[in-house]
Amino acid sequence: MPPRAAFPRAAAAAVGDARLRANLRHATHTIRAKRAAAVAELPDWELLRAAGAAIKDRTLRHLDHYLPRLEEAVTAAGGRVHWAADAAEANRIVVDLVRATGETEVVKVKSMATQEIGLNAALAREGITAYETDLAELIVQLGDDLPSHILVPAIHRNRGEIRDIFARRMGDWGRPAPEGLGDTPAELAEAARLHLREKFLTAKVGVSGANFMVAETGTMVVVESEGNGRMCLTLPETLISVVGVEKVVPTWRDLEVFLQLLPRSSTAERMNPYTSTWTGTTDGDGPHVFHLVLLDNGRTDALADTVGRQALRCIRCSACLNVCPVYERAGGHAYGSAYPGPIGAILTPQLRGTGTPLDASLPYASSLCGACYEVCPVAIDIPEVLVHLRERVVQGGQVTLRGTRTVIKPARGHAAERAALRAAAWAFDHPGVLRAGQRLAARTLRLHPRRLPGPGRAWSDSRALPEVPAESFRDWWLRTRGERDSHEQP
Ligand code: SF4
Repeated sequence: MPPRAAFPRAAAAAVGDARLRANLRHATHTIRAKRAAAVAELPDWELLRAAGAAIKDRTLRHLDHYLPRLEEAVTAAGGRVHWAADAAEANRIVVDLVRATGETEVVKVKSMATQEIGLNAALAREGITAYETDLAELIVQLGDDLPSHILVPAIHRNRGEIRDIFARRMGDWGRPAPEGLGDTPAELAEAARLHLREKFLTAKVGVSGANFMVAETGTMVVVESEGNGRMCLTLPETLISVVGVEKVVPTWRDLEVFLQLLPRSSTAERMNPYTSTWTGTTDGDGPHVFHLVLLDNGRTDALADTVGRQALRCIRCSACLNVCPVYERAGGHAYGSAYPGPIGAILTPQLRGTGTPLDASLPYASSLCGACYEVCPVAIDIPEVLVHLRERVVQGGQVTLRGTRTVIKPARGHAAERAALRAAAWAFDHPGVLRAGQRLAARTLRLHPRRLPGPGRAWSDSRALPEVPAESFRDWWLRTRGERDSHEQP
């Protein structure tokens, strides 16, 4: 596959599409206002937020303890645990498990981890059809589209577009849409319900992710709003769950914190309409066979980065997407990953590295306004990680790749930025030069261009150049106090 375009080019079409921008603006503004009201109801929100961050940090520091404990508990409860180092290994494990059942169809619970590894395409290559059962994922699948939001994958579609997709494509995947389908939410939901019911009643294999895994009992947890997930988790004979290693929490008591943080941050609800938990297998109740595929795929490398690792706290609530001015205009597809928006801009370059034009551009897909940090329920300092990753893109340096410390080169195309930063560092190290430069800049005010020439043009085209004061602070100090500061050479 050719390398995907860097974010600015990938986003250009979306930014120029007025209907898409209107859809995104309407949806994100609605969700963000509801979320703010739901959060304001809790006087101890900041304490909960700090508790969520602390639990995640502690658990991530001790994954070597909690993951074996989880495996032990899952196995003792009748499940089987598989370890997948990367996407290819995880896909191979799932394909082999489905093949072993003799089935060629699976029903799926919405899951970010399976999107991250491209499971549906991997299954399709082996002749296995995966049916998405989440309403928004169904819209994306029937429209041969890609998800563009963590919580609402079809956020870029309006009701008329969804009606057209259902009418045109449902028949190709199973029960067709009813004749004369309208575009009211009730009609669309009913069409999806009838279409999906057939799948729920015939599927022998279910595939899911999990929002959390409780180490002390080996329990998986899925929270959702529609109930389709619960059908997938309970009706099939075999259940395969693909879950990132960072989803583990030590105890049920820890889980309680996240079951408060997640619904208010994501859907602005006080609690999730459906919270499903399952522990191994139980005779006469739910699937007879349960497989847990624990996915690394770059997570332990991210964990080795003391600044970037905070991205692994993410509970995928999508609050940061809904407040991001860049996401609101560019939509999710330009991020080229299952994880769009601010969290995608810091998680994807850590999971995949910064070796492609797209991945190297993601840390720049932000205005650094800080709104994402303000709303994050686990207090991930996204702007801090963005700046940290920008430094990596421009300077290169030491990173961990597949468990080994490696020195990476700077990404291509940042020579001017690198040279400017080196020059700035040198000038700040030489106060005499800095002072002379400041005086020269002040005396040539009239000659200053409004736009920078050459490679600096891209920067100055979208920003006002900082104005140079007619007198530097040092000169003002000298003139008004008549004395030099203690560091200044005469
Ligand atoms: S980074 Fe924070 S706000 Fe964004 S999806 Fe993750 S938990 Fe939610």
